[in-house]
Amino acid sequence: MNRNVFRAYYVWPDFPSISISGEACALNCPHCGRIYLKDMMPATGPEQLVELCGSLKEDGAKGVLLSGGCDEQGRMLNLEKMLPAIRKVHDMGLIIKLHTGFVDMKLARRIADAGVDIASMEMVGDSKTIKKIFGIDATAEDYLETFRNLWNAGIPHVCPHICVGLDEGKLKGEITALQMLKTAGEPSTIAIIVLRPTKGTKLADIRPPTGEDVEKVVSHARKLFPRTKLILGALRPRGSELKGRLAERVDIELGAMEGGIDGAEVPSKEMLADAVSRGREIRRIRAFGVLPAEYENRVSAETQA
Ligand code: SF4
Repeated sequence: MNRNVFRAYYVWPDFPSISISGEACALNCPHCGRIYLKDMMPATGPEQLVELCGSLKEDGAKGVLLSGGCDEQGRMLNLEKMLPAIRKVHDMGLIIKLHTGFVDMKLARRIADAGVDIASMEMVGDSKTIKKIFGIDATAEDYLETFRNLWNAGIPHVCPHICVGLDEGKLKGEITALQMLKTAGEPSTIAIIVLRPTKGTKLADIRPPTGEDVEKVVSHARKLFPRTKLILGALRPRGSELKGRLAERVDIELGAMEGGIDGAEVPSKEMLADAVSRGREIRRIRAFGVLPAEYENRVSAETQA
């Protein structure tokens, strides 16, 4: 990874998000309350998915994010029945990122056979946080097991994401999550996201993590994974819901810069200016941040000195 380049990712419009469960989710997490599912295009049946992806491709999409809600055990709803359709979407030439939820080895192999390019999964390092936020009895080891299954199944890229402040805005298991991942593999990308107090959810009024919190997690990730691309995901406090507290967005982004981040989805102008002041070239890429560098010739990307 060339550390003289800062990668700025713009997901929309070339990489739309699709929910394969529509607005359904058996969990009702206090930081989400199923609200984020409403922002995605629904495709809950295999034919609907193929049809939707076909028309997105005709309209110029280069890839898709397939996501959705979970069952009571944290497994992605509808995933198994969608796999043959996902293979057809792969055969259309679209780059596929799939949020997987928990998967066993058998399902991981089927995901690999379906041609998924990037499997993305949450990694949580504290069992109490898992219970409090997702309401399930899983452990940090269960998350790691999913990572291992996806990794061992041979999916080209397995990209975990770690949410800074998942435990109601406070740092809890983030560092443990990174240390656990380190025992299992060297992902091409790790996405760092930041708990976003979202209007209409139970955690709407919490204090979001600070730039210092983000710096702590990113710098730890940097030390443990010197070759991995670290990106700051779009899911973070980004201003609109903070009403006049735009400074918090910038504080988080600059904390990530200080920690050694390689890029960000929808960076602010302040973050871009900071990257330039550190002597870095800006590479603007119309894709999601987990896009592997070797896929960049398949999307719109340009570097500015
Ligand atoms: S499982 Fe995912 S979609 Fe469902 S409520 Fe929790 S965060 Fe939202």
